[in-house]
Amino acid sequence: MLNLIGLDKKTLEEKLIALNQKPFRAKQIWNWIYARGALSFNQMTDISKETREILAQNFTISRPQISKDLISFDGTRKFLVKFNDGREVEAVFIPEESRGTLCISSQVGCTLACKFCHTGTQTWVRNLESSEIISQVVVAKDLINDWDKNNRRLTNIVFMGMGEPFFNYENVAKAVKILNDNQGLDLSARKTTISTSGLVPEILRCAEELKTNLAISLHATNDALRTEIMAINKKYPLAELMKACQTYNKLNPNQSITFEYVMLNGINDKEEHAFELVQLIKKYHLKAKINLIPFNPWQGCEYVNSKNDTISNFQQILKNAKLVATIRKTRGDDVMAACGQLKSVSQREKKSLKHNYPAIV
Ligand code: SAH
Ligand code: SF4
Repeated sequence: MLNLIGLDKKTLEEKLIALNQKPFRAKQIWNWIYARGALSFNQMTDISKETREILAQNFTISRPQISKDLISFDGTRKFLVKFNDGREVEAVFIPEESRGTLCISSQVGCTLACKFCHTGTQTWVRNLESSEIISQVVVAKDLINDWDKNNRRLTNIVFMGMGEPFFNYENVAKAVKILNDNQGLDLSARKTTISTSGLVPEILRCAEELKTNLAISLHATNDALRTEIMAINKKYPLAELMKACQTYNKLNPNQSITFEYVMLNGINDKEEHAFELVQLIKKYHLKAKINLIPFNPWQGCEYVNSKNDTISNFQQILKNAKLVATIRKTRGDDVMAACGQLKSVSQREKKSLKHNYPAIV
């Protein structure tokens, strides 16, 4: 039976018409699914019993299984979502005082193998369907009990989980439309951020079509070093990437691009790199902010995090050049939920589990 979670509104309308139902029901059904978290058609009390029965005979609104649910001491909640074929991805909810961010996955594994990233050690298995992307949000809302419209805890979405979102552009785009629709999950494009390792053609498409916030995993300020730690740089070197960012800025003049920069001791954290970063951003006149990410270690990785003083000094150089530069607070690292630590348990060797944290569910 067709699962309605993740189905676009137009297709739902067509399906309803094929069942001799009024297309406007699509709006009503969406409201029940995405604004009120309905689990069954029986709950849809403003739809006649007869129609509800027809819906239940043809569709489901079923959720994937939650195969693991871990809560960090800092409140960060990492859960493993298991799809029908048994494949799993991780999603992470990060509560803060004034907002709650859900970090979602776009692929099972990743085709790229950036040297500092744990997800990159897991071979790529498949792209997620748009319904599987949306269902991560729906189950997160179930888990944190977030269906009260006047008291929302989940306010922001970041595509910073497993996978490279722009290698799954079509499905990510479909999901973003449902996320951003005010009759859908009602999380606006300005509250949605897509992070990419730097796929130029899709950055341009996103700038034009999706208008979400953009984060670029930069991590190095010259081609030699970037290619060494991120092989994608061979295909899209810095000059091309920066030009794509310029176009993004031009098409989205109110939005800053976030440059993510993981701090690797002795590799990319020297003063000369900070100055090079300033040059790069100034050369292309980018409206950008820089997010320095302390490196999150994982077993088997050759890198170590930069020293605190080095990170502060790096930040100061950027600030002195009038750039906005923040240091990301590490969240959830005790349950391997921090940036770059995600890798589904089904694919992970047991010995690499850092903590034997008890499962909640
Ligand atoms: N594939 C996309 C989306 C993943 S986002 C991308 O690369 O942008 C995950 C973010 O965490 C990226 O910026 C990634 O570069 C960063 N990251 C990866 N490994 C990390 C690690 N070990 N410590 C800190 N950040 C890491
Ligand atoms: Fe893939 Fe992003 Fe990790 Fe690189 S940093 S391996 S693109 S998930």
